[in-house]
Amino acid sequence: MKLSKMLFKSLRETPSDIELESHKIMIKSSLIHQAGSGIYSYLPLAWKSLRKIEQIIREEIDNVGGQELRMPVIQPKSLWDKSGRSISMGQELFNLNDRRQKPFVLAPTHEELLTSIVKEMIYSYKSLPQLIYQMQTKLRDEPRPRGGLLRVREFIMKDAYSFDLNKDGLDESYENLSNAYMNIYNRCGLEVIKIEADSGAIGGKDSHEFVAISDAGEDKIVICNNCNYSANSEKASFSKKQYTIDSNLENQEFPTPGIKTIASLCKFAKVESYQTIKAMFYNSKDELICAVIRGDYEINELKLARAIGDPNIKPASNELLKKHDIPAGSASPLGKSIKVIADDSLLKANNYIAGANKEGYHIKNVNIGEDFTASIIEDISQIPDNAQCSKCNKDLSFKKAIEVGHIFKLGTIYSEKFDANYLDINGKSKTIEMGCYGIGTGRLLAAVIEQNHDKNGPIFPKSISPYDLIISPIKYENKIIKEYSDKIYDLLKSNKFDIVLDDRKESPGVKFSDADLLGFPIRLIISEKLIEQNMIEIKLRNSEESIKIENKKLIDYLKK
Ligand SMILES: [Zn+2]
Repeated sequence: MKLSKMLFKSLRETPSDIELESHKIMIKSSLIHQAGSGIYSYLPLAWKSLRKIEQIIREEIDNVGGQELRMPVIQPKSLWDKSGRSISMGQELFNLNDRRQKPFVLAPTHEELLTSIVKEMIYSYKSLPQLIYQMQTKLRDEPRPRGGLLRVREFIMKDAYSFDLNKDGLDESYENLSNAYMNIYNRCGLEVIKIEADSGAIGGKDSHEFVAISDAGEDKIVICNNCNYSANSEKASFSKKQYTIDSNLENQEFPTPGIKTIASLCKFAKVESYQTIKAMFYNSKDELICAVIRGDYEINELKLARAIGDPNIKPASNELLKKHDIPAGSASPLGKSIKVIADDSLLKANNYIAGANKEGYHIKNVNIGEDFTASIIEDISQIPDNAQCSKCNKDLSFKKAIEVGHIFKLGTIYSEKFDANYLDINGKSKTIEMGCYGIGTGRLLAAVIEQNHDKNGPIFPKSISPYDLIISPIKYENKIIKEYSDKIYDLLKSNKFDIVLDDRKESPGVKFSDADLLGFPIRLIISEKLIEQNMIEIKLRNSEESIKIENKKLIDYLKK
């Protein structure tokens, strides 16, 4: 490829509103072009890199038994009604009608369609397990696209789905895919860690994320440097402080005029926040839910949603509170026949102060199990900044990270809805166990650039670099230099190197800074003086040093 003919325009300046390095670099290096908010074209350089990433993914997934197919982006909405996700995905789902006003969606993921295909094609235990995957465009109407390719509305994902006989089979598929993912990231030159994750809108129980530690990330992750426990902060457990438990005392109502918050209550009653109960009210499927937690912690609504099994819980409206006669500021579950979800912190102290459900009054010595009961008691707490590890009790630390892969044990949630069953060896009908596994390729590329760049541009790992190398001849317009450079170019091409020749009439300064901006691993420099010496200069993108070698040794050197 001759650089003069390549779709490349080096930008010396970037728009000032771009924050992230990878985003800046991808614009400056002609990798991407923005068409709209969260919608990008992958220009030829990025596309070459993405195809290499896809090939690495393909090889690793095939290696654990994957079969590639391709499903459509546009799908009948009825499939999504059947799974319930036409509602639960909310506004993230792109909806449209065809000319006959039949409703369709633009697929954000493909569990529904593939499960319905498998239901029609698999009857017997003899056909299981199956591992099916595709490289496909996904569409999600993100509320806040950001960071170039890090959070977009249209993207390419490798999505894989496993179908197994039973839970043991699912565990095995999950492990195989997890190992394949680690190989993929290694081969792409990306350092990642695997963490416990929340399964969000996809559903299911076990789930892990693969994250690249980076300040550009929007995930907050928790790491224990002592025992290596790591998790997404939305999911992370931690060790909750235990206080001495005295014998339970009698309830005692007392006036608390104008007291509406835990902080003001503590000041007024001269107690610590762990001696109080905080109550929050939510609407789950039009039912009033009361979530309670010890006053020194805050409720994590994702954990709460998971505990209730309703991803769409929302804060209760004033109307709903009024209906149950709950006064803001003095509210609690006391004396109310409503569903209560309690954080397990409430078991680690007793004789709390809670709202009296009477404007301007609280009650002392309130105890869970005695004065009110909870239908669910589990961890629904946000992890505080000074938290300790739930496994080893040492301090946890927080880091920002980019999610570059997510795997889920779905179990039977989709196979049940789509009747994806098989007959076992005794002719008995069983439900297929499913897993799903996703990697966004564009975000993976952006994460590689976040981890591998300097002030001059990207530093592509060889495995995913758009080209292997660039030849930067000084004074290419000089006849001798042109002939010599063209000869080297042809020689390298015939040896299967993928190369760019900078054939432009530009100064050495411009040529070298553009070579850095392109970020290929190797730059070859050719000049009149070097030709006289039968030498070529080689500079690696990830090093400041350059070396000179005899031109007849060039191919052997590069192959090494
Ligand atoms: Zn630990």
